[in-house]
Amino acid sequence: MLIGVLALQGAFREHQEMLASLGVESRQVRKPEQLEGIDGLIIPGGESTTMGKLLQDYHLFEPIRQMALQGMPVFGTCAGLILLAREISGSSQPRLGLMDITVVRNAFGRQVESFEADLSVPVLGGEPLRAVFIRAPYIVSTGPEVEVLARYGDKIVLARQGRFIGCAFHPELTDDTRLHHLFLEQCGLKKAD
Ligand code: GLN
Repeated sequence: MLIGVLALQGAFREHQEMLASLGVESRQVRKPEQLEGIDGLIIPGGESTTMGKLLQDYHLFEPIRQMALQGMPVFGTCAGLILLAREISGSSQPRLGLMDITVVRNAFGRQVESFEADLSVPVLGGEPLRAVFIRAPYIVSTGPEVEVLARYGDKIVLARQGRFIGCAFHPELTDDTRLHHLFLEQCGLKKAD
């Protein structure tokens, strides 16, 4: 299995380290040809407006959208979640729009730059998931095909729509690999098709 990690900006190295710890090969994606042969793509945290612009400048926007629509699993974390969303509240910035969700950026307030919390994620089993939120968005509404996998209080912070998973936090900054594992299961299923 080979997983692409979008490496235009943001926390891509940490995702690669986590994949390596799971024994999975990864490739930094900065050019369209680097998408060839990957079984899934991770879009890391960073700055969604910058990443959206770079996706266009590097001619990655349409190839990623097309591959995703044709079956490639995609995992977006934090800014990556924003790029997966169909609607971004109050913003017309570029986005892939692959998930039927509306997100609000920097939604926990400017005064809360970052915090950590233990989330209950039934799909990952009994142990809580430690989540690191950094200028995080959250999901304010979901379409009928979207499964809500975790909330922080009443706010949706982890969701799945078929082969697309998005989370508002940074799972690559802890040593809990369960969410990456969940994504890799999707990628393996795709490969087995
Ligand atoms: N606040 C950033 C944005 O709106 C996301 C922050 C992050 O990815 N840690 O793009």
